Amino acid sequence: MKYVLVTGGVVSGLGKGVTASSIGVVLKACGLRITSIKIDPYLNTDAGTMSPFEHGEVFVLDDGGEVDLDLGNYERFLDVTLTRNNNITTGKIYQSVLEKERRGDYLGKTVQVVPHITDAIKNWIESVAVIPVDGKEGPAEVCVIELGGTVGDIESMPFIEALRQLSFSVGQDNFCLVHVSLIPVLGVVGEQKTKPTQHSVRELRALGLTPHLLACRSAQPLLENTKEKLSQFCHVPAGNILNIHDVPNIWHVPLLLRNQNAHLSILKQLNLLDDAATPALQDWTRMAETFDNLTESVRIALVGKYVGLSDSYLSVVKALLHACIACSLKPSIDWIAASDLEDDSARLTPEAHATAWETLRNAACVLVPGGFGDRGVTGMILAAKYARENKVPYLGICLGMQISVIEFARSVLGLERANSNEFDNETPNPVVIFMPEGSRTHMGNTMRLGSRKTLFQTPDCITSKLYQNSEYVEERHRHRYEVNPEFIGILEESGLKFFGRDESGNRMEILELPTHPFYVGVQFHPEFKSRPARPSALFLGLILAATGLLEAYLGRHQNGS
Ligand code: GLN
Repeated sequence: MKYVLVTGGVVSGLGKGVTASSIGVVLKACGLRITSIKIDPYLNTDAGTMSPFEHGEVFVLDDGGEVDLDLGNYERFLDVTLTRNNNITTGKIYQSVLEKERRGDYLGKTVQVVPHITDAIKNWIESVAVIPVDGKEGPAEVCVIELGGTVGDIESMPFIEALRQLSFSVGQDNFCLVHVSLIPVLGVVGEQKTKPTQHSVRELRALGLTPHLLACRSAQPLLENTKEKLSQFCHVPAGNILNIHDVPNIWHVPLLLRNQNAHLSILKQLNLLDDAATPALQDWTRMAETFDNLTESVRIALVGKYVGLSDSYLSVVKALLHACIACSLKPSIDWIAASDLEDDSARLTPEAHATAWETLRNAACVLVPGGFGDRGVTGMILAAKYARENKVPYLGICLGMQISVIEFARSVLGLERANSNEFDNETPNPVVIFMPEGSRTHMGNTMRLGSRKTLFQTPDCITSKLYQNSEYVEERHRHRYEVNPEFIGILEESGLKFFGRDESGNRMEILELPTHPFYVGVQFHPEFKSRPARPSALFLGLILAATGLLEAYLGRHQNGS
C-alpha cells in the first residue's frame, strides 16, 4: 500500500478535503485504484451527534456510518463507497484502546498515548486502507489520508506522531506528504506572503515529517519568485510546489493539479511512474467547463431549518447541482428559513415573512430536506401545502416526506391535529410514529441508518420510471420515525399513494400524489448517492418537472430511447 498524506497549515478551511479528493481523482485518472481515509482529531466517536449548524451536514454511508461531510466529497469525486472505519476520530481510537484495556489485553502495562494510542492509529489506518471501496476485488494501490485540523493543534499530535511512525515503517517509496497551506496577500496590490507557510512547514518538520509537495492556496496564481522563496525556505523542490488559486468551481481543482503535473511529482515519490498512464480527465474538463458556461438557471426553494450554513445541506446542494448540470441549467438555490413562513413570523418579523413567501412563490420547485426537532415544522407544512395546492414540483426528503403526510392528513383528511410523535406525543392522529428497527424503549441506537431496499409497488409511477423501472432501489437512511401503517389505507383512498415500501411492506419509503405533476416524498436520502456524472434520479425528476421537461423525458425513456 502506498500512502499520500494531506495535512493543512496556517488556517482551517483551506479546502484540504477538496485538495485531497482532487489528488485522488488525478491519480485515479492515471489508472491507479484509490481509497481514502479522513482523520478527525475531535473526541466525538462519530459525527452523528454533531449539530449541522456548527459542523455542516452529517454524511451517511451505506453501512450506516454517520461521518464527516468530507467523506461525501471523496465518494463523489472518486466514485467509491466508503465504510464507517474510513473516518477515524480521536473518540474511536480511545474507545478501542480503552475497550482493550478493560478486556485485559494490556495486562500489567501502563497504557499510554505513545505507544498504545499511536499503535492503534497505525493499525487502524493499515487495516482500513486495504478494504476495497471501488467495487473491485483486492486492496487499492494508493490510500489518500486527510488529516483534519491544522498542524500544531494539540488534539492532532498523537495522529502526527502515528503518521510519522507510519512513514518510517512503510518506507520512503510508499509515503508522500502533501502540505496544504495559504499564501495571503496584504493590501490591494500587495506581496504574496510566504512566512505563514514557512512557519507551518517548520512546525511539521519539528514533529518529524517533511512535506514532499506543497499545495498553496491563493487568490491569484503564485508568482515565480514566491515559488522560489517557498522552495528555498521550505525544503521542497520548486517543481513540487503546487498552486491552487481560486477557480470558478471545484471541478477545476483536479485539472489545475494535473496541469501542474502534480501526479508526476507524487508518482515519482511513490515510485509508481512506470505503472501510471497520462491522466486525460476529459469528463472533468467537460463538467467544469459546462458549469462555467451555464447561462440559464432554475430557482429552487430550499425550505429548511439549518439554512444559515449552506454546508448543513451540502449533499443536497451537490445533488441539485448534478441534476441541474444534466439539464444544462445553473442551480439558483433560494434558502428559506422555514420558521419565516409561519404566521408567528408575520407578527414578529413581518419583513422576513413577506420575503420568505415571495421567494417561495417565485421558485420553480420546492425542496424540504431532512431535519430533526420541531423548529420550523409549521413553516415546512405551509410550504408543502403551497406546493401541493399550486401544483409546484415538490420533493420532500425524510423529514420532508413526513411533513407532506402531516400536511395531507390535516388539509385533505381534515385531521386538524394530525402530527408526528416527534413533535407531539399526545396527538390524537399520529400519522408519523416512532418505529425503530430494534428496541422501542431505548432511544440510543434506534436510528434506522444506512442502505436499505425500497421495493416499488407498481411500475406505473413517476419515481419508478425515474429509477429506470427498477424493481427496487437501495438508498441511504437516517431516521427514527415512519409513516404510521394504520393511516395508509385512508391516506391512499384520498389520493396519497405509497409506491415504494421496504421489504416487510410496513415502512413507507416513497409517496406520490398522482394528481400532481411532481409531488414526491422519500423516507430515504437520495442526495448521498448522487454523483457528478450520475445525478440522483429524484433530483433529476424535480429539476425536469420544474422546467416542464419531465413528461417528455419519461415518454422518451418509456419508448426505450
Ligand atoms: N426527524 C425525523 C426522524 O427521525 C426525520 C429525520 C431526517 O430527516 N433525517 O424520523
